[in-house]
Amino acid sequence: MTALNSAADGRREVAAGTHPPVGFCPHCGSALDVQAFVQEYWTGRSRVFHMWCRACRFTADVVPTERMLGHEPAHS
Ligand SMILES: [Zn+2]
Repeated sequence: MTALNSAADGRREVAAGTHPPVGFCPHCGSALDVQAFVQEYWTGRSRVFHMWCRACRFTADVVPTERMLGHEPAHS
């Protein structure tokens, strides 16, 4: 489990190349710097990042994906 609760934690993650894949707030687009809260946890085989943005106070669970299937409306 990864918890980024301090600037030192964030710097270690970035230096090791293991920083969370959540670099920006999905709500306001602000960069999630080392003062933001990002904590990794697992549900089964899914890797989940619970994040809090200090700029807009938005919280979310972000699940990284490798593929996505979507729908596109018919073009006429
Ligand atoms: Zn935000």
